[in-house]
Amino acid sequence: MLIVMKFGGTSVGSADRIAQAARLVTDQLSKGHRVAVVTSAISGVTNMLIDTARAASKVQWDPAIRRKLFDIHQAAAVTLVPDEAGRKTVLAEIERRLDRFEKLCFGLSMVHELTPRLLDAISGIGEMLAAPLVAAAIRARACRSEAIDATEILVTTDQFGGAEPLMDETRARTMARLGPMVTHGDAPVVTGFIGATIDGVQTTLGRGGSDYSASILGVALDADEVWIWTDVDGVMTANPSEVAAARTLSEISYSEASELAYYGAKVLHYKTILPAFRKRIPVRILNSFNPSHPGTRVSVEGDPSVPGVKAVTSIRGVSLIGISGTGMQGIPGIVAKAFDVVAEQQSNVLMISQASSENNICFVISASEAPGVLKALKAALEFELARGHIEEIASQPVAVVAAIGDRMRGTPGIAATVFGALGAERINVIAISQGSSERNISLVVEEGDAAAAVRALHQAFRLDQTGVVPA
Ligand code: ADP
Ligand code: ASP
Ligand code: MG
Repeated sequence: MLIVMKFGGTSVGSADRIAQAARLVTDQLSKGHRVAVVTSAISGVTNMLIDTARAASKVQWDPAIRRKLFDIHQAAAVTLVPDEAGRKTVLAEIERRLDRFEKLCFGLSMVHELTPRLLDAISGIGEMLAAPLVAAAIRARACRSEAIDATEILVTTDQFGGAEPLMDETRARTMARLGPMVTHGDAPVVTGFIGATIDGVQTTLGRGGSDYSASILGVALDADEVWIWTDVDGVMTANPSEVAAARTLSEISYSEASELAYYGAKVLHYKTILPAFRKRIPVRILNSFNPSHPGTRVSVEGDPSVPGVKAVTSIRGVSLIGISGTGMQGIPGIVAKAFDVVAEQQSNVLMISQASSENNICFVISASEAPGVLKALKAALEFELARGHIEEIASQPVAVVAAIGDRMRGTPGIAATVFGALGAERINVIAISQGSSERNISLVVEEGDAAAAVRALHQAFRLDQTGVVPA
């Protein structure tokens, strides 16, 4: 079996964690499986890089950061690479990457402009620092391994900060570079999160994007499975740091996994599932801190025996944009104009709701995009505002809470349970939306109510037990 194994930031967060990751890789190699590894940056490093880049663009960056980054990686190397010559090689590699980091920051502090392209060049360095350590740790366990920059193999569009793979080119390069290594039983360690345009300019797939790298490479290598090693026992009925009673879902479908990730379950980057789904590659989410736990398996069927709602998620840091006015009724084109503006602003709409009276449409976008969208909407709908067809275009910070499950379709009483549970907690629902797929009910609530809403729904659907749907 060929497995792509991805290790998240906490799973490579220290020398001990990297040693454990290497053990998990070599365990599979010794069983005769073939393994390609994808690594994230050491936890906290990507944030440090981004903060430094932002500071450098305002001339206030602290050059001591380079030393700090070196120390973090050196401390791991000292434990992981016992032979001195090997350690020197790894540290020289790390220094080379830090040289680049320093030069980029220096340049930034001169030009004072942090473009998305420059931010990608800097934020992706964390994975380039981690990969040589992970490869060295695998070699220390007597298996062949080499760090590979994904810029060599993962070819993307030039949408900096959220690049998309160009699959034909990526497949050709991945097969050529990784194929022979994997076939010979070596374990290449590829940097997650990053890629490069066809011209070789470094890009990133977006925050948390190493999961996506793993599924892209899984497809490119015709892998049998993709394993996402993280710090919890798989995909759970809610975020375990928010709901103590959350339970692992042993089997979920591709569509459930996608909905969960899209609606805020950080355990998987929301784009991870699609490439795997297209090729029907099973994805497992496993805990590197508790590897004997079977985790979650994502497959076509999921677990059809569980009816109704399977999990509850929330998205914070979003804004509700509302367009309202009694004169909107029957005036064609307002909705089209509004969404044209949103598209022009390259803003991603997470949820839409329209009152059947047509007096109000509202939609949810990322809070950081709200001021720009609001301004552009007011300009585009100036005529309708002046005429009084539209009375108000407003934005408010909110959270979206979603109840998700394939078998919600055809299970009566779900909406009643949702509203009953929130009503009992005196949580006001600002807007609701249910897709026609009936896999998801999403609710807009005040940001401060999100945690209580998630807990109330988790409790109401008995997700701490087997998830019985109330009659
Ligand atoms: P990694 O660094 O391994 O990529 P992340 O921090 O990106 O890990 O994702 C794992 C985290 O996702 C967990 O620690 C947990 O707090 C959070 N999380 C949010 N929702 C869920 C969920 N439904 N199931 C499991 N974990 C979740
Ligand atoms: N290191 C990147 C981030 O922190 C990618 C990842 O961890 O998946 O966003
Ligand atoms: Mg992650």
